[in-house]
Amino acid sequence: MAEYLIVGNSVAAVSAIQAIRERDKEGKITVISPEPYTAYCRPLITYVLAGDVEEWRLPYKRESFYQQNRVEVLYQVRLEGVDVKERKAYLSDGSKIPFEKLLLAVGGVPFIPPIENVQSPYVFTFTTIADMKAIESCLPEVRKVVVIGAGMIGMKAAEALKKRGKDVVIVELLDRILPMVLDSQGSRLAERALDKAGVSYVLGDSVVGIGRDASGRVRQVELKSGAKIECDAVIVAVGVRPNIKPVEGSGIEVNKGIVVDDMMETNVEGIYAAGDCAESYDLILGQKRPNLVWPVAYRHGLIAGSNMAGGRRRFVGAFPINSIGFFGFQVVSAGMSAVEEGDEDAAIEVLRYVDEEKGIYRKAVIGHNRLLGFAIIGDIRRAGLYTGLIWSRMDVSPFKDVLVDQISLPEAVYPIEGALPPMNFSSRKEIRRFGWAVFPYSYRRLFTGYSARIEEICAFDDKGVCLHDGVDQE
Ligand SMILES: Cc1cc2nc3c(=O)[nH]c(=O)nc-3n(C[C@H](O)[C@H](O)[C@H](O)COP(=O)(O)OP(=O)(O)OC[C@H]3O[C@@H](n4cnc5c(N)ncnc54)[C@H](O)[C@@H]3O)c2cc1C
Repeated sequence: MAEYLIVGNSVAAVSAIQAIRERDKEGKITVISPEPYTAYCRPLITYVLAGDVEEWRLPYKRESFYQQNRVEVLYQVRLEGVDVKERKAYLSDGSKIPFEKLLLAVGGVPFIPPIENVQSPYVFTFTTIADMKAIESCLPEVRKVVVIGAGMIGMKAAEALKKRGKDVVIVELLDRILPMVLDSQGSRLAERALDKAGVSYVLGDSVVGIGRDASGRVRQVELKSGAKIECDAVIVAVGVRPNIKPVEGSGIEVNKGIVVDDMMETNVEGIYAAGDCAESYDLILGQKRPNLVWPVAYRHGLIAGSNMAGGRRRFVGAFPINSIGFFGFQVVSAGMSAVEEGDEDAAIEVLRYVDEEKGIYRKAVIGHNRLLGFAIIGDIRRAGLYTGLIWSRMDVSPFKDVLVDQISLPEAVYPIEGALPPMNFSSRKEIRRFGWAVFPYSYRRLFTGYSARIEEICAFDDKGVCLHDGVDQE
């Protein structure tokens, strides 16, 4: 009977458990969780702080999930090291757990930049329920908050705090809001939404120090430019990096993340990694890199779990996909969405449609006649279609001229002979063969108005298996 040890208790761990149990009903599964909760939906913590979602909705899986799958969870204990020869995991309570198959699903850790006094009371990161509760408990004493970083987490934190009646100032090192996703033109629309909401922002500057009073309370931040901003709390949201610390020095290969092959196995046989902690193949860059988003973590876990239990699934790759809204501003992006002409490569062409008045922006990045990335703001209904075009690597040159135009794209591309295969799909297998690019009516159904959810952008089947990943080869 196999002994599976899964380290971490979030989405990658959950999908791995599901995949193991599909193949192995008996093997012993143990999960290590430093947090005292069942797996929860991490992206929801900002919504709970904002008061938009009730706390009871946070769990992604409840105790019954672990019971039904006969999983033993060791709560409030963390992995501190791995002995790959003895095949034992060292835990924070001093115990050692033997394993036959090990999955590292330890997620990401917030990056803390070298800022003077960054380790002070009322300075927070924002990636866990514990962070959310810590911020919540200090809110009555806080009037003004500085959020460092205008990325996804920073912007959602800013929105939550504003909704709770706080004054918010965002400080971003680069000259744009959502700098990994938007170019300066897209950022201007986001800035407009911030102006309207009464949220201040400082772009192109960074926090170098945090000033405290005699009692240790935060009173201001100091910027590189010399400017000072008064505040009573600081949220540090400058990015999340793969959590590689627990395996450093163990012999398990790490780079920016834990290095895995396309079966999610590390350089050590029987030891796998999945989710935010792992590096995997980026279909657009053509190389491995961390891709820290929920749907990719889910797919990683599914493939790792299946292979741990004797399967032969392969991860075909991914590319960054994001959907975010704040203060009425909504953007969906994928791939190389932030690049500008001349930024990266002369072979890249950037197409844009801008309607400043209506707040609509569509940007497509094309290289070698393939769509390499997009960002759409305001009217986000084409998200599925564009994502499908990236997946399918379809030659977009026949309809390039209308790719970002204000006319309906399916209407524009159908008349072009040979651009699309016939539309009468009768089975999921056919959809898998052609990809989403040829399925525009389903994208229309899914992406109406504000309802774009990131899980829907990747094409999953009824069991949650990504239609693009390699099928089990037995
Ligand atoms: C505020 C916020 C908003 C987000 N919004 C989105 C979004 O809109 N869309 C999207 O796609 N993604 C979003 N993400 C990212 C998404 O949540 C992650 O990609 C996803 O949770 C990764 O899952 P994971 O299983 O790899 O690891 P994580 O969810 O990071 O969980 C890691 C697990 O490992 C455990 N762990 C850590 N260290 C150890 C250790 N030493 N020993 C044992 N266990 C350990 C942790 O307790 C946890 O259980 C958001 C993240 C945050 C924080």
